[in-house]
Amino acid sequence: AGGLRAAWEPGAAAAADRLDRFVAQAMTGYRDDRDRPDVPGTSALSPHLHFGEVSPRQVWHYVQHRAADGASEAGASAYLRELVWREFSYHLLHQWPTLPKTAFNDGFADFPWQPDDAALAAWQQGRTGFPIVDAGMRQLWHTGWMHNRVRMIVASFLTKHLLISWQDGARWFWDTLVDADLANNSASWQWVAGCGADAAPYFRVFNPVLQGRKFDPNGVYVRRWVPELADVPNRFVHAPWEGGVTPAGYPAPIIDHVAGRQRALDAFAELKRRREAVTA
Ligand code: FAD
Repeated sequence: AGGLRAAWEPGAAAAADRLDRFVAQAMTGYRDDRDRPDVPGTSALSPHLHFGEVSPRQVWHYVQHRAADGASEAGASAYLRELVWREFSYHLLHQWPTLPKTAFNDGFADFPWQPDDAALAAWQQGRTGFPIVDAGMRQLWHTGWMHNRVRMIVASFLTKHLLISWQDGARWFWDTLVDADLANNSASWQWVAGCGADAAPYFRVFNPVLQGRKFDPNGVYVRRWVPELADVPNRFVHAPWEGGVTPAGYPAPIIDHVAGRQRALDAFAELKRRREAVTA
């Protein structure tokens, strides 16, 4: 638990400090930096919000007040939009208490998931061979938190490349996140998997290599959490195999991106066929 202790200080005073620091140092850049796991661009208030150490209303009013005082308005409004996602998730859970267990879009009830204990364990342990996925899963294990962009990437990888159910992913997050929150976790997993309210379409499959290059362009984040990649040149740090590099102790990819993407699309086509057969 050392990593958790080093990363977090529980309590209302610590929450107020974190909010102050965010507004003073990061809010101006939030709109641009919020997707970058290699910089401290977000507030990391999620565990404090979850445990009620600061309330969303306090955060809302404080941020608005500081924006009116001249702090960046663009950063403030981008930040407030994220708080509204939280409210939306709570609304969903209140109206649909089955959200943690059952697909919001009931058309996904028969999705042909392919349970695979070995692949699930590789994902949980950050040993999939895809650097950005592994960095995220190790950050989670070590600190109890993962950057939002990387949460989306690892969740897409699990549900699409590996065809493992979002419920399995949500359960692991539930066990390991310091901000584990029934509303946000369930709604977000369903959103990424394609079965949530107003969800990302299932056929949109993140390419973990391109996501890594776009949001961690110099490999700072992946090198921090996957030390096996320390000496891999920037060009190949998100796909060592492309440079013929085999970093000592680091696994080869457990699935080929193109084949995994195609298998996911085939599974989705199969679901559509089954649904059409039922309604015909
Ligand atoms: P900031 O960017 O500083 O945002 C401020 C606050 O807004 C957050 O603390 C959070 O309360 C809220 N917020 C931000 N993004 C979202 C979002 N997409 N949905 C709902 N609320 C949001 N968040 C949790 O609090 N608990 C969870 O269990 C959780 N599970 C997630 C699972 C997946 C698969 C994904 C993709 C996202 C999940 N999120 C969850 C949402 C989001 O990743 C975190 O709230 C965010 O990363 C927390 O970091 P932060 O406080 O620095 O966020």
